Amino acid sequence: MQQLTYLGPQKLEWQEVPRPKLCSDEAALVRPIAVARCDLDLYVAMGAYKTPGPFAFGHEMTAVIEEVGDSVKGFVPGDRVIVPFQIHCGTCDNCRRGWTNACTAVSPYAAYGLGTHPTSDYGGAFSDTVLVPYADAMLVTLPDSISPAAGAGLSDNVADGYRTVANGLREFPGEPVLIVGGLAQSVGLYAMHAALALGSRRVVYADSDDARLSIAKHAGAEILKLSDMHTQTRHEDDFLIVVDASATREGLMYAMASTAPCGFCTGVSGGLSGMMELPLASAYMKGINYQVGRVHSRVVLHETLHHACQGTIDPLAFVDEVLSFDDCIEAMLDPRPKLVFCR
Ligand SMILES: [Zn+2]
Ligand SMILES: [Zn+2]
Repeated sequence: MQQLTYLGPQKLEWQEVPRPKLCSDEAALVRPIAVARCDLDLYVAMGAYKTPGPFAFGHEMTAVIEEVGDSVKGFVPGDRVIVPFQIHCGTCDNCRRGWTNACTAVSPYAAYGLGTHPTSDYGGAFSDTVLVPYADAMLVTLPDSISPAAGAGLSDNVADGYRTVANGLREFPGEPVLIVGGLAQSVGLYAMHAALALGSRRVVYADSDDARLSIAKHAGAEILKLSDMHTQTRHEDDFLIVVDASATREGLMYAMASTAPCGFCTGVSGGLSGMMELPLASAYMKGINYQVGRVHSRVVLHETLHHACQGTIDPLAFVDEVLSFDDCIEAMLDPRPKLVFCR
């Protein structure tokens, strides 16, 4: 079968590889039909993360079931499904707590298309066939009302943006939200959409990028242009709910400095370098809650899917064209904040 393979910085290639086999009675084989480019994919494809290739590329996907193991109860061949990018079993202690990003039944950080599981070959979202080792635990039916293109990102970047504001707005209904946009391009914009959908009375989207600011303005957010180096040190107001999607030191400092005493600041990235200083003394004095970590993809998917079905969050709100799988190598370094490909 054909598989889009990451070989090295700016080097993606279609390769002929063996089709995966059902690894157990709980597994399924699926054929991806739509793929969204995760924010991370752009930097992985550029080589910014120095992840050694080769590995199957792409991880936000919807698919059609091709085969299921004998003990799979929820799905049959032909079903359309959303495939969460994190591989997880659904039954270990961590999965039962809802921590699907930390399943102990698979290797740490096991996911499709990111080169994080060198010993297991699940495939990538641009492979002809992908192995889903725990079909009932992982897969979610794609409703008829949601297109494959719209469903592809619901378990990753849409969920990642959603969870940064959902808990805060549940606890403090209507509360203003500040989002510092940046390198996690679509996650910041989805956080902005989620904050509006969840009833925040004031959503401020701050960024140095005019294209993303224009998207946020069009969606109904109050926008604030930051200089490239964020020479502004903080927003003039304090916010109880703050999101740092910048993945830069300047953005993180701005976000934490703008977080109100006892407020909540969520970071959606560890940055490109992996090392960043934190303003701990002021965070300590204010008593802010800084959360950083990967989304629990499968758990949050229920909520993003609900909003997509209700029409309150549109995963394609800032996608201006749907591309073909054949375009993916050429398009992967396109600077637009979200790309979607259909087979
Ligand atoms: Zn991703
Ligand atoms: Zn597990």
